[in-house]
Amino acid sequence: MSSWHDRAATCRRPSAPFVGGATVAPLTDATFDSIGPRDGEVVATLPACGQQDVDRAVAAARAAFTDGRWREMAPSARKVVLHRFADLVEASADELALLETLDTGKPIGDTTSVDAPGAATTLRWYAEACDKVYGEVAPTGPDALATITREPMGVVAAIVPWNYPMIIAAWKLGPALATGNSVVIKPAEQSPMATIRLAELGHEAGLPPGVFNVLPGEGATGAALAEHPDVDKVTFTGSTATGRKVLAAAAGSNLKSVSLELGGKSPQVVFADAPDLDEAAETIAWGIFYNQGQTCHAGSRLIVEDAVADRVIAKVVEVARGLVPGDPLDEATQLGALVSREQYDRVVGYLDLANDEGAQLTLGGGSADPVAGGCYLEPTVLDRVGDDMRIAREEIFGPVLVVQRFDGSEAEALRLANGTVYGLAGAVWSADHGRAERVAAGIRAGAVYVNCFDVGDVTAPHGGFGASGFGGRDKSLHALEQYTELKTTWRQH
Ligand code: NAD
Repeated sequence: MSSWHDRAATCRRPSAPFVGGATVAPLTDATFDSIGPRDGEVVATLPACGQQDVDRAVAAARAAFTDGRWREMAPSARKVVLHRFADLVEASADELALLETLDTGKPIGDTTSVDAPGAATTLRWYAEACDKVYGEVAPTGPDALATITREPMGVVAAIVPWNYPMIIAAWKLGPALATGNSVVIKPAEQSPMATIRLAELGHEAGLPPGVFNVLPGEGATGAALAEHPDVDKVTFTGSTATGRKVLAAAAGSNLKSVSLELGGKSPQVVFADAPDLDEAAETIAWGIFYNQGQTCHAGSRLIVEDAVADRVIAKVVEVARGLVPGDPLDEATQLGALVSREQYDRVVGYLDLANDEGAQLTLGGGSADPVAGGCYLEPTVLDRVGDDMRIAREEIFGPVLVVQRFDGSEAEALRLANGTVYGLAGAVWSADHGRAERVAAGIRAGAVYVNCFDVGDVTAPHGGFGASGFGGRDKSLHALEQYTELKTTWRQH
């Protein structure tokens, strides 16, 4: 048994709400099981926080905001606390990574190298932002002075998904805390443990009580936050279907501000003159199969010029064959488990649909069994996919690449690339700079990659067009706009 298996057997599994600066007993008797997709066993049993729990957490967050214990702290002092928070996340990286792997089935090699460090980096970057963002003076002329300042919104509810639980929590927490808000996070029911641990670490770092609260729960907990009359802002990352409900709840309650980061179906457009077809294919394979295909901006559609399609697909298949599903607790594993049986069934349903719609199964399509009882799928490539097929337009959110071939015309490439309701990301591969720029400009998406994919950095915004969301961006200084209101103060001379 490796040390990760030993640690998994004995590690503490945080499962209680964290409210008002402490672990608290839930006010509900209802519970739910977080089932580990690695082996189908129960990882933890948690309270399904109800209305009373939500009311208590929102009240704690409101009290902290109203008395100014965090928002009125000097920005340089807030910076120190957030740096300490990032330090503690770094120091606890292995513990956090293990909790996330147990909850989600992600390979431990990924959670230790990407998820935990990514959360720390994000918190540290926003720590620095605390005392480096200035207000403005409006050019009104000599008779009046108008200063424009950014005011925190108040109580922020962050509702997050299971695919990158810690990183996405940090994308919300960093800018919300840097700007002086109080936060209540509702982690996904599949992945609550690392987020609860983050709250403990934040408190240890010096966040005042009530500034960072976590409520485990299912969809109803998120819905109660979205409807709550004393929540000022909901920042939501998840599916487009749930995003619609959050928006409706905000409209039907107190018209709280809403930011939505939703689904995607990102195209990889490959022209025959791509600078290095093998390198492109390798990047494309990783761009869909990393994290078992459960990445919002995964490059899930390969739109490839006929002349090179067979060659590019062959290379993608070669790379994918090397990605054998393995035990997430084994450090050598590169492809772990899908997050849940439900998600597994959903993806398998799309594979059945692909068969009905007449797509050609070029690779995979089957389940794997590295750990009995787990949710493992082979990397799958579906060729000859028509743009009218549902598998070309709907988000599958699993290790499945659909291939659409085109004749080499830019117009046709763009028609296919923009042929979904989503607009999160896209890529173009061509050595012709003019063509690459034209196609990059024509793809309707929040991020476009030219001869590369999934280059990410906290300094650049993340978010989408169309059904991929609206209402602000995660990451970068633009994220601060999600959590602040502009205030103009006039003086007349
Ligand atoms: P989901 O919409 O099912 O759940 C997301 C969160 O919403 C969970 O915490 C869930 O408990 C909560 N929720 C469920 N019903 C709710 C309701 N009625 N009101 C309020 N909250 C509710 O999504 P998921 O399956 O957890 O995540 C996968 C989806 O997230 C995919 O569509 C993926 O593309 C998307 N995603 C988008 C981004 C992005 O930045 N655009 C990033 C990651 C994931």
